Amino acid sequence: MTYDPGLRRDTQLARIFKDRIAADGECAVGDFIGECLWNEHHGYYATKEVIGASGDFVTAPEISQTFGELIGLWCAVVWQQMGSPNPVTIVELGPGRGTLMSDALRAMARVPQLLAALRIDLVEASPTLRQRQRQKLTGSTVPIHWHDAMPAPATPVIVIANEFLDVYGLDQSVKTDDGWRFRAVVCDPDGSLQFAPSKRLRAHAELDARFPSAPAGAIFEFARLDEFAASLSMLAAEHPMAGLMIDYGHATSSLGETLQAVRAQQYEHPLTSPGEADLTMHVDFEDLARAVGQTGLAVDGPTTQSECLGRLGIMERASILMASNPARALEIEHGIARLMAPNGMGTRFKAIGIRSPNLPPLPGF
Ligand code: SAH
Repeated sequence: MTYDPGLRRDTQLARIFKDRIAADGECAVGDFIGECLWNEHHGYYATKEVIGASGDFVTAPEISQTFGELIGLWCAVVWQQMGSPNPVTIVELGPGRGTLMSDALRAMARVPQLLAALRIDLVEASPTLRQRQRQKLTGSTVPIHWHDAMPAPATPVIVIANEFLDVYGLDQSVKTDDGWRFRAVVCDPDGSLQFAPSKRLRAHAELDARFPSAPAGAIFEFARLDEFAASLSMLAAEHPMAGLMIDYGHATSSLGETLQAVRAQQYEHPLTSPGEADLTMHVDFEDLARAVGQTGLAVDGPTTQSECLGRLGIMERASILMASNPARALEIEHGIARLMAPNGMGTRFKAIGIRSPNLPPLPGF
């Protein structure tokens, strides 16, 4: 995505970054992204209605109800694999508008013993989205609690997350003639924000070993996946834990930049409108599997979204839905086609299963 200075928008956050850069010389890319997403007054998630047809991007549960329903059934099978514990907690990370959980609860209602044992913990930092989730889930008989960060339920736990890790702890480094450095945002003489290598070097033995021939200018992206894996392993310390994470990403680590900005369902350069566009990166599933493996948890997959949903029976679920709602058959078919598209969401999104090592392999893998 080229950076067209003509399209640059002088947002409130852009001005704050410029002042900060005037004082400090630079702003680390990791801090820049974190502020753009979460600044209390001007951050994207903190202030905007972001998801859905009227928002900036549309996610799988907003495209088809089968997505959340299959995840609900996945939870029911995993609960049985755990020995049907009572109580059990489902933690959803980044529930968005609450659509996935609402569809999942409808599917899980077919297993009344599970519903009776269930409590739900939602991890959501955006006050606007919390409000949405509350509206969507009112009327549910299951107790629901909200948290700012990973909770620590004293029960067996099932963790689900769709499009959560693509905004989690994002950062970048860049190869320079004197080694790998963090990447920073600086200010040009003409006053526009630009990317540049940071003054800070990063430890590079590991990157040199992995990418010995990376040319100057090469970008390596990373996220705080060790921290994330540690939070899952804490959940598994005393009780069985199983998780399903689905996200846009690649199965093997590679060099290259995937940081992208989306505003009003259009891509733009990530420096164009700080705080007013969604910023995401592809999830590096190889690195996630490595980080999780190091904690002693087991990993299933990653596999593509279409393979995972296919194994969970999306086609069967779609035919039942279409037969019982003939007037909506076309819309249902269209939604499934989008989730499963071989050159679209079906393969660009990957699913990974994470579990206590004594649980059997998870469904869908
Ligand atoms: N899972 C939903 C929403 C995806 S958007 C869906 O599929 O439609 C990302 C979601 O994660 C939003 O709800 C956002 O507010 C939340 N989120 C992202 N990073 C977070 C963090 N570090 N802590 C808490 N919530 C976060």
